[in-house]
Amino acid sequence: MILHRLLFLLIFLEVPLSNFAQSGQALEKIFKFEQAHRTIGTQAAASLANGQNIDVIQYRAHWWLNPQSDSIRGKIAIVFKPSGGAMSQTSLDLASNMLVESVKFRNVSAQFSFSGASTLNINFGNQQLNPGSIDSLVIKYKGKPIPSVFGSFTRTQHAGNWLVYTLSEPYCAKDWWPCKQALNDKADSIDISIYTPTGNTAVSNGLLVAQSENNGIRTFRWKHKYPIATYLIAVASTNYAFFRHKAVLASGDTLPVDNYCYPENFNLWKTEMAAVTNMIEDFDSLIAPYPFPKEKYGHTQFAFGGGMEHQTNSFMQNTDFGLQAHELAHQWFGNKVTCNSWEEIWLNEGFATHMAAMEYVKAGLSTWPQEGRQWIDYITSEAGGSVFCSDTSDLYRIFSGRLSYAKGAMVLRMLRWKLGEQAFWQGIRSYINKPSLAYSFVGTSDLKAELENSSGQDLDEFFQDWYKGEGYPNMQVDAMIEGDSVHLILSQQSSHPSVSFFEMDVPLLLKNGINDTIISLPFNQNGQMYSIGAGFIIDSIGADPESHWLARWNVSQITRNKLLDETAAKSFYPNPASKTLVFRDGFQKISSAILFDLQGRKLLSIKTDRNGEKTSLEGIAPGMYLIQFSSSGKNASMKLLIE
Ligand SMILES: [Zn+2]
Repeated sequence: MILHRLLFLLIFLEVPLSNFAQSGQALEKIFKFEQAHRTIGTQAAASLANGQNIDVIQYRAHWWLNPQSDSIRGKIAIVFKPSGGAMSQTSLDLASNMLVESVKFRNVSAQFSFSGASTLNINFGNQQLNPGSIDSLVIKYKGKPIPSVFGSFTRTQHAGNWLVYTLSEPYCAKDWWPCKQALNDKADSIDISIYTPTGNTAVSNGLLVAQSENNGIRTFRWKHKYPIATYLIAVASTNYAFFRHKAVLASGDTLPVDNYCYPENFNLWKTEMAAVTNMIEDFDSLIAPYPFPKEKYGHTQFAFGGGMEHQTNSFMQNTDFGLQAHELAHQWFGNKVTCNSWEEIWLNEGFATHMAAMEYVKAGLSTWPQEGRQWIDYITSEAGGSVFCSDTSDLYRIFSGRLSYAKGAMVLRMLRWKLGEQAFWQGIRSYINKPSLAYSFVGTSDLKAELENSSGQDLDEFFQDWYKGEGYPNMQVDAMIEGDSVHLILSQQSSHPSVSFFEMDVPLLLKNGINDTIISLPFNQNGQMYSIGAGFIIDSIGADPESHWLARWNVSQITRNKLLDETAAKSFYPNPASKTLVFRDGFQKISSAILFDLQGRKLLSIKTDRNGEKTSLEGIAPGMYLIQFSSSGKNASMKLLIE
């Protein structure tokens, strides 16, 4: 899902930083607005517990959906088997403002009651269900859904025509239909019939297998024969216009790309939505085959300010290039493999953001290092925050553009750099194709295991620092250039106490007017020192020229001709001094240091054997003095004021 198109346009296109900051504020406003709905949050945890003793095999839904009305009527057959031992009751997610007309089990009325705001309890009476047996429940209900969060059930107008659509992410399917919405059970297939007044076209997931019209009611039957998480099931109805594009998959098969848009936008949509066919072909060959090849991909226009990756049929406000790429990428990341908890939403959103950025770069709409700098500025605009979402009752946090989207995507960029393209993509392919994960639910530990497997690297520390930990490193590069070599001291300060030190391979650019080279330095502890030869006279040093790391950088460089002054200024402190002078080790070893008065009389030798060594100034009268010292065979002096 993308909440707000503006944010992502600003991320991907080059804009001044001031605008960038504003985009974050715009997002804040949206979320502040959404906070009005946040009471849903406390229900979320409870609803995740419903239906835990059943394994949903199929939803067969009949929905009466009239864009002229803000009510819905439905008959839902839930085909299931007990997921554990014998059972005589279960519970489903449904908002208690909905009117349940009947619940039937094996054609006999079953007892039901609501508890809490959204739990529908169903009692099978004396009929005990045994493990392994397949059964079904049929629930008839109706009501006027109360839309929550992003507008789970929304009725609105376009060009004077009524439109109704759903958007259930994250846990709002229960607002409009009885279901099991926990993130540990996908229905293996869905079979959806929608009845809507003549003049409207009703859409859902999968393939349109039948269509008919009778007495002013049109019936659309949609079937989707792949596993699907409940929040990815959606319907919409209005006077849609239809067009089809086609993509050619690596298998050689042709995939229909079916689009339903407002008639007034037909020409624009038909032209601009053609972009997605190349993206399908890119992702199909780069990531893994398109996950639903026997059916289709497509878009349906709706009024939410952004997009939502409903399985095989992304609902879109507009034809924005980045929005197309983002929602398409979710068909692999989010739909084929779905985060097993909203704590791990980055497995959906971080990947979709990362893949959309690749398409931007490929299309020439952005270039990576520049875009990366904008991501980094955005992510580091606050000192804390982890990719891991610790508060899933806070919608603002789940869908944080800065953390779940941008920082999640940046973590993937860092992994690509750290593991190398080949090992990274091999790990991603096995994450998305592995039989135990494909079409199922996944956690960050699954991704980590596949990447460790493909790369042979231990990623414990990486995920602890960058995924679970908050913040980022403030990097200090102190460089002393000496002809064609450079002496470096790297140090780091974490922006947040949850991570004491971020291990990194630090990329540095060494260059002059003609030559340049990038070096990579393993950095494991503060104050680490390096001496590097470039093979050419170095003019300047740049940090992380390709935006590989989520870090802020400060580079301070001195060249040899200023060295002695700089060395002196840093080597003896405090200045002014009173009773004691302390020696500090630097780039160049100081072999001797002598204190003179201004008349040239030698007063004492200053100790320079060890860092932190102290020389007593006891007995020396206040006034101005000179320290003369030698370093690498050169002599210099500095003034010292004794108080
Ligand atoms: Zn998304």
